[in-house]
Amino acid sequence: MSKKVLVIGAGLGGLSTALRLNALGYNVKIVEQYSKPGGRLNSFSKDGFTFDTGPSFFSMSYEFTEFFNSIGVQNPLKFRKLDPLYTVNFAPDGRKYQVYTDLNQLALQFKQIEPDFKKNVTLFLEQAKDIFEDTEYRIVKKNFDSILQYLLGLATVPLKHTPKLFRTMWQELGRYFQSEDVKIIFSLVAFFLGATPFNTPAVYSLLNYTELVHDGYWNVEGGMYSIVESILDIIKSKNIEIQLNTKIVSFTNTNNKITGFIDQNGNVHTADLFVVNSDAASFRWEILNNSKFAPKKLDKMHWTLAPFTIYLGVKGVIPELNHHNYYLGDNFKEYADTIFSSTVSPEKPYYYVNVSSKSNPDCAPEGCENIFILCPVPDLRFKKDWSDSESFADGIIDDLSKRINFDLKSNTLTRTIWNPIDWKDKFNLYQGSGLGLAHDLNQVGGFRPSNKDEQYSNLYYVGASTIPGTGLPIVIISSKLVAERIQKDNALSI
Ligand SMILES: Cc1cc2nc3c(=O)[nH]c(=O)nc-3n(C[C@H](O)[C@H](O)[C@H](O)COP(=O)(O)OP(=O)(O)OC[C@H]3O[C@@H](n4cnc5c(N)ncnc54)[C@H](O)[C@@H]3O)c2cc1C
Repeated sequence: MSKKVLVIGAGLGGLSTALRLNALGYNVKIVEQYSKPGGRLNSFSKDGFTFDTGPSFFSMSYEFTEFFNSIGVQNPLKFRKLDPLYTVNFAPDGRKYQVYTDLNQLALQFKQIEPDFKKNVTLFLEQAKDIFEDTEYRIVKKNFDSILQYLLGLATVPLKHTPKLFRTMWQELGRYFQSEDVKIIFSLVAFFLGATPFNTPAVYSLLNYTELVHDGYWNVEGGMYSIVESILDIIKSKNIEIQLNTKIVSFTNTNNKITGFIDQNGNVHTADLFVVNSDAASFRWEILNNSKFAPKKLDKMHWTLAPFTIYLGVKGVIPELNHHNYYLGDNFKEYADTIFSSTVSPEKPYYYVNVSSKSNPDCAPEGCENIFILCPVPDLRFKKDWSDSESFADGIIDDLSKRINFDLKSNTLTRTIWNPIDWKDKFNLYQGSGLGLAHDLNQVGGFRPSNKDEQYSNLYYVGASTIPGTGLPIVIISSKLVAERIQKDNALSI
Protein backbone atom coordinates (compact mmCIF):
# COMPACT_ATOMS: atom_id res chain seq x y z
CA MET A 1 0.00 0.00 0.00
CA SER A 2 1.32 3.46 -0.84
CA LYS A 3 2.48 5.73 1.97
CA LYS A 4 0.18 8.50 3.13
CA VAL A 5 1.54 12.05 3.07
CA LEU A 6 -0.09 15.07 4.68
CA VAL A 7 0.97 18.42 3.19
CA ILE A 8 0.34 21.41 5.47
CA GLY A 9 -0.25 24.48 3.32
CA ALA A 10 -1.54 24.90 -0.23
CA GLY A 11 0.98 27.53 -1.34
CA LEU A 12 2.93 26.97 -4.55
CA GLY A 13 5.42 24.92 -2.51
CA GLY A 14 2.77 22.65 -0.99
CA LEU A 15 0.79 22.18 -4.20
CA SER A 16 3.83 21.36 -6.33
CA THR A 17 5.23 18.96 -3.72
CA ALA A 18 1.85 17.21 -3.49
CA LEU A 19 1.88 16.60 -7.25
CA ARG A 20 5.50 15.49 -7.37
CA LEU A 21 4.87 12.98 -4.55
CA ASN A 22 1.63 11.80 -6.17
CA ALA A 23 3.59 11.11 -9.36
CA LEU A 24 6.04 9.05 -7.30
CA GLY A 25 3.22 6.88 -5.94
CA TYR A 26 2.47 8.50 -2.59
CA ASN A 27 -1.10 9.00 -1.36
CA VAL A 28 -1.31 12.74 -0.67
CA LYS A 29 -3.75 15.02 1.16
CA ILE A 30 -3.40 18.79 1.68
CA VAL A 31 -4.73 20.98 4.49
CA GLU A 32 -4.78 24.76 4.19
CA GLN A 33 -5.75 27.44 6.72
CA TYR A 34 -6.94 30.03 4.16
CA SER A 35 -10.22 29.85 2.24
CA LYS A 36 -8.50 29.56 -1.15
CA PRO A 37 -5.39 27.64 -2.30
CA GLY A 38 -2.27 29.40 -3.62
CA GLY A 39 -0.81 30.99 -0.49
CA ARG A 40 0.78 34.34 -1.31
CA LEU A 41 0.18 33.58 -5.01
CA ASN A 42 -3.52 34.27 -4.61
CA SER A 43 -6.30 36.36 -6.11
CA PHE A 44 -9.66 37.91 -5.31
CA SER A 45 -12.48 39.51 -7.27
CA LYS A 46 -14.39 42.60 -6.18
CA ASP A 47 -16.79 44.99 -7.90
CA GLY A 48 -16.07 43.58 -11.36
CA PHE A 49 -12.27 43.68 -10.95
CA THR A 50 -9.92 40.73 -10.38
CA PHE A 51 -6.65 41.21 -8.54
CA ASP A 52 -3.61 38.98 -8.16
CA THR A 53 -2.70 39.45 -4.51
CA GLY A 54 1.09 39.14 -4.54
CA PRO A 55 3.52 37.91 -7.20
CA SER A 56 3.25 39.65 -10.55
CA PHE A 57 6.19 38.19 -12.51
CA PHE A 58 8.90 35.55 -12.18
CA SER A 59 12.31 34.55 -13.48
CA MET A 60 13.54 31.07 -14.53
CA SER A 61 10.31 30.12 -16.30
CA TYR A 62 11.84 26.78 -17.29
CA GLU A 63 11.50 25.60 -13.67
CA PHE A 64 7.71 25.50 -14.20
CA THR A 65 8.21 23.48 -17.39
CA GLU A 66 10.51 21.07 -15.55
CA PHE A 67 7.88 20.71 -12.83
CA PHE A 68 5.02 19.88 -15.19
CA ASN A 69 7.24 17.47 -17.17
CA SER A 70 8.29 15.73 -13.96
CA ILE A 71 4.65 14.87 -13.21
CA GLY A 72 3.99 13.71 -16.76
CA VAL A 73 1.93 16.72 -17.86
CA GLN A 74 2.55 19.17 -20.67
CA ASN A 75 3.04 22.70 -19.33
CA PRO A 76 -0.48 24.19 -19.56
CA LEU A 77 0.72 27.77 -18.85
CA LYS A 78 1.11 30.32 -21.59
CA PHE A 79 4.11 32.41 -20.55
CA ARG A 80 4.53 36.00 -21.64
CA LYS A 81 7.99 37.52 -21.63
CA LEU A 82 8.29 41.01 -20.18
CA ASP A 83 10.14 43.45 -22.37
CA PRO A 84 10.80 46.03 -21.15
CA LEU A 85 11.19 44.25 -17.84
CA TYR A 86 9.94 47.29 -15.93
CA THR A 87 9.96 51.07 -15.82
CA VAL A 88 11.80 52.95 -13.09
CA ASN A 89 10.59 56.44 -12.15
CA PHE A 90 12.65 58.74 -9.95
CA ALA A 91 11.47 61.69 -7.88
CA PRO A 92 11.46 64.63 -7.80
CA ASP A 93 11.91 65.41 -11.52
CA GLY A 94 10.10 62.34 -12.88
CA ARG A 95 13.07 61.01 -14.85
CA LYS A 96 12.21 57.62 -16.14
CA TYR A 97 14.01 54.61 -17.58
CA GLN A 98 12.70 51.54 -19.36
CA VAL A 99 14.73 48.48 -18.47
CA TYR A 100 15.08 46.48 -21.70
CA THR A 101 16.79 43.12 -21.99
CA ASP A 102 18.26 44.17 -25.31
CA LEU A 103 21.52 45.77 -24.20
CA ASN A 104 21.64 48.16 -27.17
CA GLN A 105 18.19 49.46 -26.33
CA LEU A 106 19.14 49.65 -22.67
CA ALA A 107 22.32 51.56 -23.56
CA LEU A 108 20.17 54.14 -25.34
CA GLN A 109 18.19 54.67 -22.11
CA PHE A 110 21.38 55.45 -20.24
CA LYS A 111 23.17 57.31 -23.06
CA GLN A 112 23.26 60.65 -21.24
CA ILE A 113 24.26 59.32 -17.84
CA GLU A 114 26.51 56.31 -18.54
CA PRO A 115 28.34 56.77 -21.86
CA ASP A 116 30.27 53.46 -21.75
CA PHE A 117 27.24 51.51 -20.61
CA LYS A 118 27.25 48.78 -23.29
CA LYS A 119 30.92 47.88 -22.72
CA ASN A 120 30.60 48.01 -18.91
CA VAL A 121 27.33 46.13 -18.63
CA THR A 122 28.70 43.37 -20.85
CA LEU A 123 31.67 42.92 -18.50
CA PHE A 124 29.42 43.13 -15.43
CA LEU A 125 27.02 40.52 -16.75
CA GLU A 126 29.80 38.15 -17.80
CA GLN A 127 31.03 37.84 -14.22
CA ALA A 128 27.42 37.57 -12.96
CA LYS A 129 26.83 34.74 -15.43
CA ASP A 130 29.92 32.92 -14.13
CA ILE A 131 28.63 33.03 -10.55
CA PHE A 132 25.19 31.82 -11.62
CA GLU A 133 26.62 28.89 -13.55
CA ASP A 134 29.18 28.01 -10.89
CA THR A 135 26.57 27.82 -8.11
CA GLU A 136 23.36 26.63 -9.79
CA TYR A 137 24.01 22.89 -9.52
CA ARG A 138 26.79 22.92 -6.92
CA ILE A 139 24.77 24.88 -4.34
CA VAL A 140 21.28 26.04 -5.25
CA LYS A 141 19.74 22.86 -6.63
CA LYS A 142 21.20 20.51 -4.05
CA ASN A 143 20.18 18.89 -0.78
CA PHE A 144 22.84 18.99 1.91
CA ASP A 145 22.75 16.60 4.87
CA SER A 146 24.97 18.69 7.13
CA ILE A 147 26.74 22.03 7.37
CA LEU A 148 30.01 20.22 6.69
CA GLN A 149 28.63 18.77 3.47
CA TYR A 150 27.43 22.26 2.49
CA LEU A 151 30.85 23.77 3.20
CA LEU A 152 32.46 21.03 1.10
CA GLY A 153 29.97 21.94 -1.65
CA LEU A 154 30.99 25.61 -1.36
CA ALA A 155 34.63 24.56 -1.67
CA THR A 156 33.88 23.29 -5.19
CA VAL A 157 32.86 26.79 -6.32
CA PRO A 158 35.84 28.38 -8.16
CA LEU A 159 37.98 30.54 -5.88
CA LYS A 160 37.86 33.48 -8.29
CA HIS A 161 34.45 34.39 -6.82
CA THR A 162 35.77 34.68 -3.24
CA PRO A 163 36.44 38.47 -3.32
CA LYS A 164 32.75 38.95 -4.10
CA LEU A 165 31.90 37.56 -0.67
CA PHE A 166 33.70 40.52 0.87
CA ARG A 167 32.42 43.27 -1.42
CA THR A 168 28.86 44.57 -1.30
CA MET A 169 26.60 44.60 -4.29
CA TRP A 170 26.81 48.43 -4.29
CA GLN A 171 30.62 48.33 -4.31
CA GLU A 172 30.57 45.79 -7.12
CA LEU A 173 28.26 47.99 -9.19
CA GLY A 174 30.64 50.91 -8.54
CA ARG A 175 33.44 48.97 -10.24
CA TYR A 176 31.48 48.99 -13.48
CA PHE A 177 29.18 52.02 -13.48
CA GLN A 178 29.50 55.74 -12.62
CA SER A 179 25.85 56.75 -12.70
CA GLU A 180 23.91 56.69 -9.46
CA ASP A 181 20.68 55.92 -11.37
CA VAL A 182 22.17 52.89 -13.11
CA LYS A 183 23.56 51.57 -9.83
CA ILE A 184 20.21 52.06 -8.08
CA ILE A 185 18.29 50.30 -10.85
CA PHE A 186 20.63 47.30 -10.86
CA SER A 187 20.57 47.09 -7.10
CA LEU A 188 16.79 46.81 -6.69
CA VAL A 189 17.13 43.01 -6.81
CA ALA A 190 18.83 43.13 -3.38
CA PHE A 191 15.47 43.95 -1.79
CA PHE A 192 13.99 40.68 -3.13
CA LEU A 193 16.60 38.91 -1.00
CA GLY A 194 15.61 40.75 2.14
CA ALA A 195 18.54 43.10 2.26
CA THR A 196 19.90 46.29 0.71
CA PRO A 197 22.69 46.64 -1.88
CA PHE A 198 24.78 48.19 0.90
CA ASN A 199 24.87 44.98 2.93
CA THR A 200 24.30 42.30 0.28
CA PRO A 201 27.42 40.47 -0.90
CA ALA A 202 28.36 41.00 -4.53
CA VAL A 203 27.83 37.31 -5.37
CA TYR A 204 24.14 38.13 -5.68
CA SER A 205 24.84 40.11 -8.84
CA LEU A 206 23.94 36.73 -10.35
CA LEU A 207 20.35 38.01 -10.07
CA ASN A 208 21.16 40.80 -12.54
CA TYR A 209 22.24 38.08 -14.94
CA THR A 210 19.00 36.13 -14.40
CA GLU A 211 16.83 39.20 -15.04
CA LEU A 212 18.73 40.75 -17.94
CA VAL A 213 20.21 37.84 -19.84
CA HIS A 214 19.51 34.32 -18.67
CA ASP A 215 15.74 33.93 -18.93
CA GLY A 216 14.37 37.40 -18.11
CA TYR A 217 11.03 37.98 -16.40
CA TRP A 218 7.73 36.43 -17.31
CA ASN A 219 4.09 36.46 -16.43
CA VAL A 220 1.23 34.29 -17.51
CA GLU A 221 -1.68 34.74 -19.84
CA GLY A 222 -4.87 34.98 -17.77
CA GLY A 223 -3.07 36.49 -14.76
CA MET A 224 -0.72 35.03 -12.17
CA TYR A 225 -3.42 33.05 -10.40
CA SER A 226 -3.84 30.94 -13.53
CA ILE A 227 -0.64 29.18 -12.36
CA VAL A 228 -2.56 27.97 -9.30
CA GLU A 229 -5.71 27.21 -11.31
CA SER A 230 -3.76 25.03 -13.75
CA ILE A 231 -2.14 23.15 -10.88
CA LEU A 232 -5.53 22.74 -9.17
CA ASP A 233 -6.97 21.18 -12.35
CA ILE A 234 -4.25 18.53 -12.21
CA ILE A 235 -4.72 18.03 -8.47
CA LYS A 236 -8.41 17.44 -9.06
CA SER A 237 -7.74 14.98 -11.89
CA LYS A 238 -5.49 12.99 -9.52
CA ASN A 239 -8.13 12.99 -6.75
CA ILE A 240 -5.82 14.72 -4.30
CA GLU A 241 -7.94 16.14 -1.50
CA ILE A 242 -7.46 19.76 -0.37
CA GLN A 243 -9.16 20.64 2.89
CA LEU A 244 -9.44 24.44 3.17
CA ASN A 245 -10.09 26.59 6.30
CA THR A 246 -8.05 24.07 8.27
CA LYS A 247 -5.29 25.50 10.41
CA ILE A 248 -2.76 23.19 12.03
CA VAL A 249 -2.21 24.20 15.64
CA SER A 250 -0.60 21.20 17.31
CA PHE A 251 0.74 17.68 16.78
CA THR A 252 0.99 14.18 18.20
CA ASN A 253 4.09 12.02 18.20
CA THR A 254 5.69 8.84 19.41
CA ASN A 255 9.38 9.30 20.17
CA ASN A 256 10.99 10.81 17.11
CA LYS A 257 8.07 10.35 14.72
CA ILE A 258 5.06 12.58 14.09
CA THR A 259 1.84 10.58 14.17
CA GLY A 260 -0.58 13.37 13.36
CA PHE A 261 -1.21 17.11 13.17
CA ILE A 262 -4.18 18.63 14.96
CA ASP A 263 -6.28 21.42 13.43
CA GLN A 264 -8.15 24.30 15.10
CA ASN A 265 -11.25 22.13 15.49
CA GLY A 266 -9.39 19.36 17.28
CA ASN A 267 -9.37 16.99 14.29
CA VAL A 268 -6.24 14.86 14.01
CA HIS A 269 -4.77 14.40 10.51
CA THR A 270 -2.70 11.25 10.45
CA ALA A 271 -0.20 10.10 7.80
CA ASP A 272 3.09 8.26 7.42
CA LEU A 273 4.99 11.36 6.25
CA PHE A 274 4.37 15.08 6.66
CA VAL A 275 5.45 18.05 4.54
CA VAL A 276 5.14 21.53 5.99
CA ASN A 277 4.63 24.44 3.57
CA SER A 278 4.10 26.89 6.45
CA ASP A 279 7.17 29.01 7.25
CA ALA A 280 9.98 26.51 7.91
CA ALA A 281 11.53 28.57 10.70
CA SER A 282 8.52 29.77 12.68
CA PHE A 283 6.61 26.46 12.35
CA ARG A 284 9.44 24.73 14.20
CA TRP A 285 8.68 26.93 17.20
CA GLU A 286 4.97 27.75 16.94
CA ILE A 287 3.84 24.15 16.44
CA LEU A 288 6.78 21.95 17.41
CA ASN A 289 8.19 24.06 20.28
CA ASN A 290 11.73 23.51 19.03
CA SER A 291 13.73 25.85 21.28
CA LYS A 292 16.33 26.45 18.55
CA PHE A 293 13.59 28.51 16.90
CA ALA A 294 12.22 30.26 20.00
CA PRO A 295 10.90 33.81 19.39
CA LYS A 296 14.11 35.45 20.64
CA LYS A 297 16.09 33.47 18.07
CA LEU A 298 13.55 33.98 15.29
CA ASP A 299 13.56 37.71 15.93
CA LYS A 300 17.34 37.84 15.68
CA MET A 301 17.22 36.26 12.23
CA HIS A 302 17.01 38.51 9.18
CA TRP A 303 13.63 38.64 7.48
CA THR A 304 12.51 40.17 4.22
CA LEU A 305 10.37 43.32 4.27
CA ALA A 306 6.64 43.10 4.90
CA PRO A 307 4.14 43.92 2.14
CA PHE A 308 1.71 46.82 2.30
CA THR A 309 -0.55 46.26 -0.70
CA ILE A 310 -3.30 48.35 -2.25
CA TYR A 311 -5.73 46.99 -4.85
CA LEU A 312 -7.49 49.75 -6.80
CA GLY A 313 -10.13 49.43 -9.49
CA VAL A 314 -10.07 52.68 -11.43
CA LYS A 315 -12.28 54.22 -14.10
CA GLY A 316 -10.23 55.31 -17.10
CA VAL A 317 -7.18 54.08 -18.96
CA ILE A 318 -3.87 55.48 -17.75
CA PRO A 319 -1.26 55.74 -20.50
CA GLU A 320 1.46 56.90 -18.07
CA LEU A 321 1.43 53.51 -16.32
CA ASN A 322 3.08 50.49 -17.89
CA HIS A 323 2.57 46.92 -16.77
CA HIS A 324 5.43 46.97 -14.19
CA ASN A 325 6.58 50.25 -12.64
CA TYR A 326 8.86 51.24 -9.77
CA TYR A 327 8.46 54.65 -8.14
CA LEU A 328 11.54 55.72 -6.22
CA GLY A 329 12.43 58.82 -4.25
CA ASP A 330 15.64 60.85 -4.19
CA ASN A 331 17.27 59.51 -1.01
CA PHE A 332 18.07 55.90 -1.94
CA LYS A 333 20.88 55.17 0.55
CA GLU A 334 19.11 56.80 3.49
CA TYR A 335 15.88 55.01 2.58
CA ALA A 336 17.59 51.63 2.21
CA ASP A 337 19.42 52.09 5.51
CA THR A 338 16.27 52.82 7.52
CA ILE A 339 13.39 50.98 5.86
CA PHE A 340 14.02 47.56 7.42
CA SER A 341 13.91 48.71 11.03
CA SER A 342 11.82 51.87 11.04
CA THR A 343 9.00 51.98 13.59
CA VAL A 344 6.84 54.36 11.57
CA SER A 345 5.37 54.31 8.07
CA PRO A 346 7.82 55.76 5.54
CA GLU A 347 7.13 59.43 4.82
CA LYS A 348 8.04 59.34 1.15
CA PRO A 349 7.53 55.68 0.35
CA TYR A 350 9.17 53.80 -2.52
CA TYR A 351 6.72 51.46 -4.21
CA TYR A 352 5.98 49.15 -7.12
CA VAL A 353 2.87 49.41 -9.32
CA ASN A 354 1.48 46.66 -11.52
CA VAL A 355 -1.41 47.09 -13.91
CA SER A 356 -2.34 43.63 -15.07
CA SER A 357 -5.35 44.89 -17.05
CA LYS A 358 -2.77 46.29 -19.51
CA SER A 359 -2.17 42.75 -20.73
CA ASN A 360 -5.17 40.84 -19.28
CA PRO A 361 -8.22 42.98 -20.12
CA ASP A 362 -10.50 40.43 -18.40
CA CYS A 363 -9.22 41.69 -15.02
CA ALA A 364 -11.15 44.97 -15.28
CA PRO A 365 -14.39 46.21 -16.84
CA GLU A 366 -14.01 47.93 -20.21
CA GLY A 367 -12.41 51.35 -19.97
CA CYS A 368 -11.02 50.62 -16.49
CA GLU A 369 -7.69 49.55 -15.02
CA ASN A 370 -6.89 47.33 -12.04
CA ILE A 371 -3.94 48.73 -10.16
CA PHE A 372 -1.84 46.80 -7.65
CA ILE A 373 0.50 48.84 -5.48
CA LEU A 374 3.13 47.11 -3.36
CA CYS A 375 5.02 49.17 -0.82
CA PRO A 376 7.61 47.13 1.11
CA VAL A 377 7.57 48.21 4.77
CA PRO A 378 9.21 47.16 8.06
CA ASP A 379 7.94 43.86 9.46
CA LEU A 380 5.86 43.62 12.64
CA ARG A 381 8.90 43.35 14.92
CA PHE A 382 9.53 47.03 14.19
CA LYS A 383 6.15 48.55 13.26
CA LYS A 384 3.38 46.72 15.07
CA ASP A 385 0.57 49.25 14.76
CA TRP A 386 -1.05 49.59 11.33
CA SER A 387 -4.03 51.71 12.38
CA ASP A 388 -2.63 54.33 9.96
CA SER A 389 -3.23 52.01 6.96
CA GLU A 390 -5.92 54.15 5.31
CA SER A 391 -3.98 57.39 5.59
CA PHE A 392 -0.74 55.69 4.54
CA ALA A 393 -2.53 54.33 1.45
CA ASP A 394 -4.00 57.80 0.75
CA GLY A 395 -0.48 59.26 0.79
CA ILE A 396 0.81 56.69 -1.71
CA ILE A 397 -2.20 57.15 -3.99
CA ASP A 398 -1.80 60.97 -3.91
CA ASP A 399 1.89 60.64 -4.73
CA LEU A 400 1.18 58.26 -7.61
CA SER A 401 -1.62 60.49 -8.92
CA LYS A 402 0.80 63.43 -9.16
CA ARG A 403 3.48 61.33 -10.79
CA ILE A 404 1.17 59.91 -13.46
CA ASN A 405 -0.92 63.06 -13.80
CA PHE A 406 -4.17 61.18 -13.19
CA ASP A 407 -6.58 61.69 -10.32
CA LEU A 408 -6.78 58.15 -8.96
CA LYS A 409 -8.84 59.10 -5.91
CA SER A 410 -11.87 60.54 -7.68
CA ASN A 411 -11.81 57.72 -10.27
CA THR A 412 -11.59 54.88 -7.77
CA LEU A 413 -14.40 52.34 -8.11
CA THR A 414 -13.07 49.84 -5.60
CA ARG A 415 -10.24 49.86 -3.06
CA THR A 416 -8.83 47.14 -0.79
CA ILE A 417 -5.80 47.37 1.48
CA TRP A 418 -3.81 44.51 3.00
CA ASN A 419 -1.31 45.66 5.62
CA PRO A 420 1.38 43.40 7.16
CA ILE A 421 -1.07 42.21 9.84
CA ASP A 422 -3.52 41.05 7.13
CA TRP A 423 -0.72 39.22 5.32
CA LYS A 424 0.42 37.61 8.57
CA ASP A 425 -3.08 36.49 9.52
CA LYS A 426 -4.12 35.19 6.11
CA PHE A 427 -1.03 33.08 5.37
CA ASN A 428 0.69 32.77 8.73
CA LEU A 429 3.72 34.81 7.64
CA TYR A 430 6.20 35.31 10.45
CA GLN A 431 5.96 38.94 11.64
CA GLY A 432 4.28 39.67 8.30
CA SER A 433 7.54 39.21 6.39
CA GLY A 434 6.53 39.02 2.72
CA LEU A 435 9.21 36.81 1.22
CA GLY A 436 10.18 34.88 4.38
CA LEU A 437 13.71 34.50 5.73
CA ALA A 438 16.28 36.77 4.14
CA HIS A 439 19.25 35.38 2.16
CA ASP A 440 22.27 36.54 4.12
CA LEU A 441 25.16 34.11 3.63
CA ASN A 442 24.50 32.70 7.12
CA GLN A 443 20.87 32.03 6.18
CA VAL A 444 21.29 30.14 2.90
CA GLY A 445 22.29 26.60 1.92
CA GLY A 446 23.36 24.51 4.91
CA PHE A 447 22.59 27.42 7.26
CA ARG A 448 18.95 27.86 6.15
CA PRO A 449 16.28 25.85 8.04
CA SER A 450 16.65 22.42 6.48
CA ASN A 451 13.92 20.73 4.44
CA LYS A 452 14.16 17.81 6.85
CA ASP A 453 13.26 18.21 10.49
CA GLU A 454 16.02 17.78 13.07
CA GLN A 455 13.82 15.99 15.65
CA TYR A 456 11.16 14.08 13.73
CA SER A 457 12.33 11.66 11.07
CA ASN A 458 9.11 11.68 9.02
CA LEU A 459 8.73 15.48 8.84
CA TYR A 460 9.86 17.63 5.90
CA TYR A 461 9.59 21.26 4.76
CA VAL A 462 9.04 23.05 1.47
CA GLY A 463 8.77 26.73 0.55
CA ALA A 464 10.28 30.16 0.84
CA SER A 465 12.00 29.86 4.24
CA THR A 466 13.68 26.49 3.67
CA ILE A 467 16.18 25.72 0.89
CA PRO A 468 16.96 27.15 -1.60
CA GLY A 469 14.95 30.33 -0.85
CA THR A 470 12.14 32.61 -1.88
CA GLY A 471 10.41 33.49 -5.16
CA LEU A 472 8.17 31.36 -7.35
CA PRO A 473 10.74 29.41 -9.40
CA ILE A 474 12.91 28.91 -6.33
CA VAL A 475 9.94 27.49 -4.43
CA ILE A 476 9.35 25.13 -7.36
CA ILE A 477 13.00 24.02 -6.97
CA SER A 478 12.32 23.63 -3.25
CA SER A 479 9.54 21.15 -4.04
CA LYS A 480 11.92 19.19 -6.26
CA LEU A 481 14.54 19.05 -3.50
CA VAL A 482 12.10 17.92 -0.82
CA ALA A 483 10.55 15.29 -3.10
CA GLU A 484 14.05 13.96 -3.83
CA ARG A 485 14.83 13.85 -0.14
CA ILE A 486 11.61 12.06 0.73
CA GLN A 487 12.17 9.60 -2.07
CA LYS A 488 15.74 8.94 -0.94
CA ASP A 489 14.57 8.32 2.64
CA ASN A 490 11.50 6.26 1.78
CA ALA A 491 11.67 4.86 -1.75
CA LEU A 492 12.34 1.32 -0.65
CA SER A 493 9.30 1.26 1.57
CA ILE A 494 6.57 2.96 -0.55
C1 LIG B 1 3.27 41.00 -2.02
C2 LIG B 1 4.19 39.93 -2.55
C3 LIG B 1 4.69 40.04 -3.84
C4 LIG B 1 5.52 39.05 -4.35
N1 LIG B 1 5.96 39.16 -5.64
C5 LIG B 1 6.68 38.16 -6.19
C6 LIG B 1 7.00 38.20 -7.57
O1 LIG B 1 6.64 39.13 -8.29
N2 LIG B 1 7.71 37.15 -8.08
C7 LIG B 1 8.10 36.08 -7.31
O2 LIG B 1 8.74 35.15 -7.84
N3 LIG B 1 7.80 36.02 -5.99
C8 LIG B 1 7.09 37.02 -5.42
N4 LIG B 1 6.73 36.96 -4.11
C9 LIG B 1 7.20 35.81 -3.30
C10 LIG B 1 6.36 34.58 -3.53
O3 LIG B 1 5.00 34.91 -3.38
C11 LIG B 1 6.71 33.52 -2.50
O4 LIG B 1 8.12 33.27 -2.51
C12 LIG B 1 6.00 32.21 -2.77
O5 LIG B 1 4.66 32.40 -3.17
C13 LIG B 1 6.06 31.39 -1.50
O6 LIG B 1 5.37 30.17 -1.69
P1 LIG B 1 5.32 29.13 -0.49
O7 LIG B 1 4.60 27.96 -1.01
O8 LIG B 1 6.66 28.94 0.07
O9 LIG B 1 4.52 29.86 0.68
P2 LIG B 1 2.97 30.44 0.79
O10 LIG B 1 2.58 30.96 -0.51
O11 LIG B 1 3.05 31.34 1.93
O12 LIG B 1 2.17 29.12 1.13
C14 LIG B 1 2.14 28.56 2.41
C15 LIG B 1 0.71 28.15 2.71
O13 LIG B 1 0.67 27.51 3.96
C16 LIG B 1 -0.51 27.92 4.65
N5 LIG B 1 -0.28 27.74 6.07
C17 LIG B 1 0.63 28.37 6.85
N6 LIG B 1 0.57 27.91 8.12
C18 LIG B 1 -0.41 26.99 8.14
C19 LIG B 1 -0.97 26.16 9.18
N7 LIG B 1 -0.51 26.21 10.44
N8 LIG B 1 -1.97 25.32 8.85
C20 LIG B 1 -2.45 25.24 7.59
N9 LIG B 1 -1.97 26.01 6.58
C21 LIG B 1 -0.95 26.86 6.85
C22 LIG B 1 -0.64 29.39 4.24
O14 LIG B 1 -1.96 29.87 4.46
C23 LIG B 1 -0.24 29.35 2.78
O15 LIG B 1 -1.34 29.12 1.94
C24 LIG B 1 5.89 37.93 -3.56
C25 LIG B 1 5.38 37.83 -2.26
C26 LIG B 1 4.55 38.81 -1.75
C27 LIG B 1 3.98 38.67 -0.37
